[in-house]
Amino acid sequence: MAPGEIIVIDGEGEEGYHSIRPDFGDKKHAVCIFEHIYFARSDSMIDGVSVYEARKQAGRILARTYPVEADMVIGVPESGIDAAIGYAEESGIPYEKAIVKNSYIGRTFIKPSQKERMKSVRIKLNPIADRVRGKRVVMIDDSIVRGTTIDRIVTMLRDAGAKEVHMRISSPPFMWPCYYGTDIPSRGELIAVNHSIEEITRLSGADSLGYLPVESLHEMIGYAPMGFCQGCFTGEYPAETTKITLEGKERGGMDYSDKESCQGKE
Ligand code: SF4
Repeated sequence: MAPGEIIVIDGEGEEGYHSIRPDFGDKKHAVCIFEHIYFARSDSMIDGVSVYEARKQAGRILARTYPVEADMVIGVPESGIDAAIGYAEESGIPYEKAIVKNSYIGRTFIKPSQKERMKSVRIKLNPIADRVRGKRVVMIDDSIVRGTTIDRIVTMLRDAGAKEVHMRISSPPFMWPCYYGTDIPSRGELIAVNHSIEEITRLSGADSLGYLPVESLHEMIGYAPMGFCQGCFTGEYPAETTKITLEGKERGGMDYSDKESCQGKE
């Protein structure tokens, strides 16, 4: 689909649908980079770029930027897995599947209360204990937003016997809200706004922590004809009027907290 294109499925026309494409003239386009990092399925192509390849590339960059001696690389399902494969390829450390996602429950990261979110992590994710016991583990996740659940994942691996847990994040720290619809909380709730990397490392319980450098986002995507938005990482938005129009708006994005369709992360 093209930007702004609407597909109407009405049973009419050659294949039962037709397309409406408004003419935006030469207006600037910008793809949400968080689609590559988290939202999109691995088999998606966005603006000619493979999401799977972009995630693997993020893992390769993390391996070069934050090397560590370890016995295995693991990914937090689903979107951390592709980056973990890239990290493993680049570092030569074997990739292992060591966290299993319970596919019989829905998205739990959007539970309305903190208590429910914490409980959900343990219901949703489980370690394969005999894989990680006594091992030094590099664990890749796609993002940390509030930071309210990451310590649970680290604790889960330690409880399973992991000797060391080195956390690598395949996106830069979230520093700004999204004004375009993604449910990123207000700045005050973003852990990276209020804490240094050292503090987040300590709070998470990990042995080390490394985020994808923000200047590596271009390298992660490679060729991106439409350009992309990276506003929540840089505070620079593709539409100049975004901040002015929404000045004073505390919360980024729309409040989807009571809707199952939201795909927010913690
Ligand atoms: S600010 Fe919103 S649209 Fe832009 S990259 Fe972040 S989540 Fe995507």
